[in-house]
Amino acid sequence: MFQRFIRLFGRGGGRGGGRGGGAGRGGGRGPGRMGGTEAAGPGGNCVCPGCGHKVPHQVGQPCYQISCPKCGTTMTRE
Ligand SMILES: [Zn+2]
Repeated sequence: MFQRFIRLFGRGGGRGGGRGGGAGRGGGRGPGRMGGTEAAGPGGNCVCPGCGHKVPHQVGQPCYQISCPKCGTTMTRE
């Protein structure tokens, strides 16, 4: 009885936790970040390396063509 119960419980928890945590964290962090960055390209933000000011990135206008409205530093993609 007990062993069966423990086995079932162990399997269930092991599989669920292992898969969920492993795939979720590993896959989510790596590709997730990159995907997020790429996805943020068209509609993300441009950030000023000088003062940290951020402005919404505009499609068709690269961040490096935008000057920071605060300090005038050329902005870069966030
Ligand atoms: Zn600035």
